[in-house]
Amino acid sequence: MAKVRLEDIKRRFNNVTAIEDITFEIPDGEFWVLVGPSGCGKSTILRTIAGLETATSGKLFIGEQLVNNVPARQRDVAMVFQNYALYPHMSVAQNIAFGLKMRKVDSKVIQERVVTVARSLSLEHLLDRKPKQLSGGQQQRVALGRAIARQPQVFLLDEPLSNLDAQLRDDTRAELKQLHQELGVTTVYVTHDQVEAMTLADKIVVLNRGRIQQIGEPQSIYARPANQMVATFLGSPPMNILPAIYKHEGFDVSGQLLRITPQMRESLHLPTGQSFDLGIRPEHIYINEPQRRSEKSERQLPTNRTFQDGEHAEEELGELSVEVKVVEPLGRETLMRVSLPGSLVLLNVQVGGDVRSHPGDRLSLQLDLSQLFVFDPKTGDRISPQD
Ligand code: ATP
Repeated sequence: MAKVRLEDIKRRFNNVTAIEDITFEIPDGEFWVLVGPSGCGKSTILRTIAGLETATSGKLFIGEQLVNNVPARQRDVAMVFQNYALYPHMSVAQNIAFGLKMRKVDSKVIQERVVTVARSLSLEHLLDRKPKQLSGGQQQRVALGRAIARQPQVFLLDEPLSNLDAQLRDDTRAELKQLHQELGVTTVYVTHDQVEAMTLADKIVVLNRGRIQQIGEPQSIYARPANQMVATFLGSPPMNILPAIYKHEGFDVSGQLLRITPQMRESLHLPTGQSFDLGIRPEHIYINEPQRRSEKSERQLPTNRTFQDGEHAEEELGELSVEVKVVEPLGRETLMRVSLPGSLVLLNVQVGGDVRSHPGDRLSLQLDLSQLFVFDPKTGDRISPQD
């Protein structure tokens, strides 16, 4: 196992800068996830660590060793790709053993390790099969097994679950997490899937257009996104963004006044008349129309909130009138897409599964102002809450 350190790594392809200013250090044994939209540079970073790309500038260390000029095969890293890249003519056992054979490891050791790895991945009963006789999930486990058997210092995983169907992806994700807990190998995992990032990572690196946007633990990034890009990328459905103009009593949102408390006004300390983007997550919006809720959901409402005591609750709720556009019942919860009358602004709202609303209904929504974000509309940076 080893730590991995990138210092000011940049990679250019002719006149395209794929990544720049990439600096972070992954402590020994941690699981880090690089996440971001297509083209943000996450695979380029992973491939640079693997030695499959050469950094245009910057330094890359694995353990204490500067590896910029160390060829891929000497870096002691194992990479698993989205397309499992198994050898079709070899059995599962031979595939798992391949990296060890190439390194001329003693055949008895190989045999033992294949059995141990196969057991940890529930592949023991499949050792004699060829890859084409396996399901996608089993093939991916063999690819993982091949990487694990080598006992590398670092695992590099590039979207390893994206070829699997939804159920298998969930199962394999949980298995991966458990495997990491058992093996403790430093892991860098690339995905565009924010659920994978949130569930697997010790730390997430959010990337956009070749640059790091934020690094942190999943929950802290979710609770305190550095900017609008991060705020809307992590979370499903994503954080709502409402263009607004600051007035003395609150925010003008498409002609409606979202009133804020005097305390909020004081702490926000914003210039009146200026435009801002407000951010609010779907789970921090509530329906304020008793006739539209069953008694049960009405009773549940306060427990959804983050207020410790009900005393200031009403003051900390801002109201907006909306029209329901789409209702998606998911059983435990219901997702709704609503619009602000007279504007093109749409909001995602996540409410209890027993809420009954229909397209065309007019509703009054309550926004938990303690969970409101204010962003600079020009830079996207978070203005409030401050760190
Ligand atoms: P995806 O999720 O689509 O795989 P990514 O975040 O992994 O995307 P990269 O593959 O790292 O993104 O690419 C980052 C940028 O560098 C993109 O703009 C891409 O077009 C560019 N790029 C990557 N490889 C090359 C190359 N060999 N030649 C030119 N440009 C490249």
